[in-house]
Amino acid sequence: MSTAIEFDRVSKVFGSGTSRVEALREVSLSVQAGQIHAVVGCSGAGKSTLLRTVNGLERPTSGRVVVAGRDTTALSGKELYAARQQTGMIFQQFNLLSARTVYGNIAYPLRLAGLSKDAVLDRVEELLAFVGLTDKALSYPSQLSGGQKQRVGIARALATEPQIILSDEATSALDPATTAEVAGLLQRTNEEYGVTVLLVTHEIDVVRDIAHRVTVMDAGGVVEDGTTYDVFSRPQHAVTRRFVSSVLRSVPDEGALATIRRVHRGRLVQLHVEDRETDQPFLSEVARRTGVDFDVVYGGVEELQDRLFGSLTLELLGEPAAVEAAVAQLRVSTTVVDLDAAAPPAPSRALRLAEEVAVGA
Ligand code: ADP
Repeated sequence: MSTAIEFDRVSKVFGSGTSRVEALREVSLSVQAGQIHAVVGCSGAGKSTLLRTVNGLERPTSGRVVVAGRDTTALSGKELYAARQQTGMIFQQFNLLSARTVYGNIAYPLRLAGLSKDAVLDRVEELLAFVGLTDKALSYPSQLSGGQKQRVGIARALATEPQIILSDEATSALDPATTAEVAGLLQRTNEEYGVTVLLVTHEIDVVRDIAHRVTVMDAGGVVEDGTTYDVFSRPQHAVTRRFVSSVLRSVPDEGALATIRRVHRGRLVQLHVEDRETDQPFLSEVARRTGVDFDVVYGGVEELQDRLFGSLTLELLGEPAAVEAAVAQLRVSTTVVDLDAAAPPAPSRALRLAEEVAVGA
């Protein structure tokens, strides 16, 4: 796989003195050609600034941004203009020309590029069909819904057949159903035109649904970078965990954990579930070998990019030594978070049942 965009120790400082902001701090990152690469992070993390260095809307204070093998930071105004033709951009607020029709908006970059009238007509018709707006060609932006406006934005960005699309919070002004629709269109853009998509978003659902790879930014720096599967299934940084937990419901939050503890007094452990290349049923095997009973008290398994992952919270019941042995054996097969390392010894199931009967009597 070749590299479409290479950020090499990119820093950006805005202002000076008391208003000095370090928007980017030595960001190094590779975006592979043909991928959908998401950059996520909280507001102010530096995502937009990073994106805007790709087409020269922001110049780095130091470092290099290499796009398709060319160092954009070294390009002059004219060269930069030519390089921008290879990069389409879509925006949160659509940035359409209100005085032009849908047709006129999509045709605009083609006219600027000097295409003949017939060539413009052919290309715009093709793009209108691609984004499903053939019947809106003569409408004005004010007559369109948000989702339709962003479809025009995507068609316009694709007009000059760029190799890269930059998407700056393109779905953030849309309702959830329209967000999914526009994200789906970005995915088709990537698949059918082979375009590399670098998308900045704070919406983790979009990342989950369409991104191959994700970079997590915090305070101007990269805190995590990996395939979407790896980052979602094993988030390392606190910021990543916060983002991921909002779409993955298999890990109990504090409130859920308190509820679980009210009901379950055994030892609580959380198991990481991953694609397993084996059909060995390891949970029941550990239970059999150690004589420990277990209940699944929380969790779930999800599918992401054709692979499975998730988390199960178990209550282990048995003699303390046996529970200890069970935890050790579980650790051999998967990652285990001991939620109860310092908990009192768990009563065995038989003892607990006897207790419950006694209380009930
Ligand atoms: P994000 O896209 O993650 O929300 P931005 O890249 O927009 O973050 O901003 C990163 C930081 O840089 C913020 O503190 C923001 O206020 C600051 N910033 C961005 N653009 C400018 C600018 N043109 N002038 C001054 N500060 C800016």
